[in-house]
Amino acid sequence: MTTPATPPGYTAPASPNAAGAREEGALGRGFERTHVWVFDLDNTLYPADCNLFLQVDQRMGEFIARLLGVPFAYARHLQKTYYRQFGTTLSGLMQVHGMDPKPFLDYVHDIDLTPVREHPELAAAIDKLPGRKLIFTNGSRRHAERVADKLGVLRCFETIFDICDANYVPKPTASCYQHFCRAHGVEATQSAMFEDIPRNLEAPHALGMTTVLVRSNANHDHPLQQMIRAWVEPPVHVHHMTFDLAAFLEGLAGTSPVASTHVTDLARADAEPKSLEVNAPFGHAGAPPAPADSKGTA
Ligand SMILES: [Mg+2]
Repeated sequence: MTTPATPPGYTAPASPNAAGAREEGALGRGFERTHVWVFDLDNTLYPADCNLFLQVDQRMGEFIARLLGVPFAYARHLQKTYYRQFGTTLSGLMQVHGMDPKPFLDYVHDIDLTPVREHPELAAAIDKLPGRKLIFTNGSRRHAERVADKLGVLRCFETIFDICDANYVPKPTASCYQHFCRAHGVEATQSAMFEDIPRNLEAPHALGMTTVLVRSNANHDHPLQQMIRAWVEPPVHVHHMTFDLAAFLEGLAGTSPVASTHVTDLARADAEPKSLEVNAPFGHAGAPPAPADSKGTA
């Protein structure tokens, strides 16, 4: 882990399309004010085609079947139902069954990390970003440390805010992001959030963060991916998108602040920060429906 660096004056993509940013003309926020870089872990820092979540997904079903003494198929049904209803399967198990979260997290994250390969280009690109860098995950700290270490990026980050730190209130719950900001002295309007799940960017957008959706061609038939592909244009809470996080960050590091005016400060009323009620429901009028299945979180 590194000590936060003093942010220099800042930067944005030289070309709106080169790094996967929104099409020129689309409005959103840029990165001129970004001093804090916040990254989801699963399917964001490592590519979704590692399919780590297949292992986690399987182990969640196994754990629930044993915990409740129900057939595996029914455990899977509960797993998906709780994900949709409570934001994460873990949250549902805690609220409905009063489950102790620690054994669950230890079990579901006890996975084989062989598919995760070292990514020196990503580490170098993160190192070039000006300011603080943090991991914000619905998983456990131990899982995040193991995966980030395997990627070779753990040293890039000041700290990890995990589901335990969040008092087991997961993204996309609005209060979870407010808790994160308070805990680490993060000013949302000077921050950028990177995520692979669109609804997890709704609260960051409302708080004033710049948002980046990290996309993938893996899991092509997953309802979440089908939903994203169906967008005529990204919803308002998705300011930028990329299929290649390292390239996107590298593009940010080498560009001029002047070029960023295409994505920021262009008087889009709904791009301005809004206050959030604690535990306010997520979503807005233009938001797509929540995915019908879980992906990348516990
Ligand atoms: Mg994720």
